[in-house]
Amino acid sequence: MIEQRQQAEGAPRPGGRRPHRPAGRLNEMILAIIRKAARPIRVIEIRSALDATGEAITPSLVFRALGQLSARGAIQKVELARGYVAGTGAPRIALVCDACGDVSLVACEPAFAALDELAGRHGLSGQRFVIEVPGRCAICAATAGDVA
Ligand SMILES: [Zn+2]
Repeated sequence: MIEQRQQAEGAPRPGGRRPHRPAGRLNEMILAIIRKAARPIRVIEIRSALDATGEAITPSLVFRALGQLSARGAIQKVELARGYVAGTGAPRIALVCDACGDVSLVACEPAFAALDELAGRHGLSGQRFVIEVPGRCAICAATAGDVA
């Protein structure tokens, strides 16, 4: 019998295949993994960490949890690093070190207000903010730059 087919959306149906845990618990597990990481953590690494807990969690559930955590600002995806860092609940600019991969999330209300206004003026709604600035962090700049 072939009953264990995966649902495309990953959403439980009444009487159908159900997740092993409430969605909130998976979100908190993923958030803990991201908070524990010293650098941006990729989806494959998150999945490995979840697998290590002994629970089988489908990729669609992981992506849904990441979407929910991102939507509430608990995590932030850093595109340059292709990974996630813990968020602050508000939009932040990601300063990304090219050399060591360190990511700092910094507040900059005027920048986000200006982008909000710009988007609104051009009829864009439901906007998200992705601002990432690559460069060298202070530690890498000091170690690489000090030739003296
Ligand atoms: Zn660095």
